[in-house]
Amino acid sequence: MTFTFVTLFQSIVEGYFSDSILNRAIEKDIIELSYLNPRDYSSNKHNKVDDTAVGGGAGMVMNPQPLYDCLADLKNKDENVHIVFLTPVAKQFNQNDAKRLAKKSHIAFVSGRYEGIDERVIEKYADEVFSIGDYILTGGELPSMVMCDAISRNVDGVLGNSESLDIESFETPLLEAPSFSKPANYENNFVPKEYLKGNHSKIRSLKIALSECKSKFFRPEQLKKHIIRTSYEK
Ligand code: SAM
Repeated sequence: MTFTFVTLFQSIVEGYFSDSILNRAIEKDIIELSYLNPRDYSSNKHNKVDDTAVGGGAGMVMNPQPLYDCLADLKNKDENVHIVFLTPVAKQFNQNDAKRLAKKSHIAFVSGRYEGIDERVIEKYADEVFSIGDYILTGGELPSMVMCDAISRNVDGVLGNSESLDIESFETPLLEAPSFSKPANYENNFVPKEYLKGNHSKIRSLKIALSECKSKFFRPEQLKKHIIRTSYEK
C-alpha cells in the first residue's frame, strides 16, 4: 500500500516513519511512502504557494494553482489514488475509518498550512476530508501522520502478531483490559492475582470484567450504547 504526503514540510513526516514497526513495514515493502511538495508545482517565479485571503481576513491561504497541478499530476500517475484532505472542521477520524482505508491501494494526505487551503482545491480533489480532533494545529502533517500510522496497523503483515489487533480498544465495544508487565509485585503494587495462576478461562472472565470497569470509567456513553444494543439482540 502506498501513502503519498502532499506537504510543504517533508522532513517533519520522514522522521516519524524512520523507526520501529512502521519502518520495518517499509523495509519489507508492505507499505511505501512518497512525498510531493506543492512548491515544486508553483508557477510563481519565487515558488510562492500562498497569498492573502480574498475578501479580507487574517493570515495567508494556500493558492489553488500549485495544489491543482500537483494533484492532477498525482491522479495522472495513479487514477486509483484516494485523496484525503486534513482540516479541523471535518468529521473526526476513528478506528472504523482506519480499518476501511487500510483496504485502499494508495492514499494521499494533503496537509494545509497557514490559514488553510483554498476551498476550491478541496471541492475539486477531495475523496474524503478528516479532522483528528476539535483543536487547531499549525499544519496538516501531524494529522496525516496520525492517520497513516493508524491505517498502517490494519494493513496485513504490518503488525508482527496479527492477534494483537483483535483485542485492542475500539475493535470491540469494550476497551482493552488493563495491561501489566513484570515483575508481578512492583513496590508492593500487585498485578491481579488471577493473572498469575494460569487458568485461561478465569483470566478471560476477569479481563472482560476489567474491560467493563475501564469502559465504565473512561467511556460510559459507549458502554451504555453497547448494553442497550446487546439487550435488543437477545
Ligand atoms: N483557519 C483554519 C480554521 O480555522 O479552520 C485552521 C487552519 S490550521 C492553522 C492549518 C492547517 O492545519 C489546516 O489547513 C489543516 O490541514 C491542519 N489542521 C489543523 N488542525 C487540524 C485538525 N484538528 N485536524 C486536521 N487537520 C488540522
